[in-house]
Amino acid sequence: MINRRKFIVQSALLSSALAIPGSLMSFAAFDQDNAPQVFDVIIVGGSYSGLSAAMALGRSLRKVLIIDSGLPCNRQTPHSHNFITQDGKKPKDISSNAKQQVLNYDTVSFHEDIALKMQKKGDLFELSTASGKVLLAKKVLFATGLKDIMPPIPGFSDCWGISILHCPYCHGYEVKGQQTGILGNGNVAFHYAQLVSNLTNKLSIFTDGPANFSSDQQQLLRKNNIRVVEQKIKSLVHQGGKLSGILGQDDSTHSLTALYARPAFEQHCKIPVELGAGLTEQGLLKLDSVQQTTIPGLYACGDNSAFRSVATAVSTGSQAGSAINMALSTEIFNLR
Ligand SMILES: Cc1cc2nc3c(=O)[nH]c(=O)nc-3n(C[C@H](O)[C@H](O)[C@H](O)COP(=O)(O)OP(=O)(O)OC[C@H]3O[C@@H](n4cnc5c(N)ncnc54)[C@H](O)[C@@H]3O)c2cc1C
Repeated sequence: MINRRKFIVQSALLSSALAIPGSLMSFAAFDQDNAPQVFDVIIVGGSYSGLSAAMALGRSLRKVLIIDSGLPCNRQTPHSHNFITQDGKKPKDISSNAKQQVLNYDTVSFHEDIALKMQKKGDLFELSTASGKVLLAKKVLFATGLKDIMPPIPGFSDCWGISILHCPYCHGYEVKGQQTGILGNGNVAFHYAQLVSNLTNKLSIFTDGPANFSSDQQQLLRKNNIRVVEQKIKSLVHQGGKLSGILGQDDSTHSLTALYARPAFEQHCKIPVELGAGLTEQGLLKLDSVQQTTIPGLYACGDNSAFRSVATAVSTGSQAGSAINMALSTEIFNLR
């Protein structure tokens, strides 16, 4: 017989083990028994932005714990582009290299887990995780990214990040000159059309229903030889994520090898919003000039609050790391 508390902890461990790829139970340089009582900073999210912040904080001798559930948004993409020094590398290789460098600083530790809940405890933040850990920190940084919501078009999620692309800067060069589609409507699709027409002149827009362009936009699309297909989409034709066409409701096929799309998204981690942190109209965390959310002591960086690129994630992470260090330094200095 196991008691109720044991049962809850074991269930949480089991469910998080199912959710996190790799060995969840393995702690990289973190053992709660030997860990400091209170971390200077807990960073939730250990991908590009979180690791970049940890670098600045580790080099400032801050006791930092990174908690990461191992699900970065670009995990299905074979190669990452447009980040200088790492162009064309596998996304995982970039973050593994970053993690290795960050863990060279012995005040930084990394724990594979899911941050579930947080509350204020006096001046501190108390964070509970899926594996049953309860951790305290002076400041918390959310580097948790966004979760893309796949539209219910058969084949879409298989092709996402492989031949369905969110960003011409990241992947447009690799498909230049190819038969290309834009899945979208109105201003978003028109904006993509302006951008992508620089990379290919074989371009069509698939609106998956009635088109919604102004008459000026329609005229410009025509002048630029961009076809608008209003037919409802039945499915995407692909092999292993590599597109060969779009199948319409009438079973006609439109051949193409690349498709731009901007699916809806949500915050990957709900904790900041549950605590009352403000969001922008676009659904990003609202920040001040030092990467602080609308909740004092709670910071954010990377995709959850900025333009989506590895370079921006690294840049905002580094800014958040130094801003948090400055805040801690000032608080300690002024108390002496
Ligand atoms: C398909 C695709 C392809 C892309 N290709 C490129 C490219 O080629 N070049 C480029 O510059 N950019 C590219 N991007 C954008 C780039 O991947 C992102 O800008 C970047 O990953 C953002 O880094 P981040 O650290 O903010 O978030 P992410 O990399 O998404 O990482 C967030 C981390 O937080 C963790 N996390 C979330 N919630 C919790 C929680 N509650 N507890 C613990 N951990 C949690 C996640 O598991 C994840 O590891 C691409 C994006 C997509 C979607």
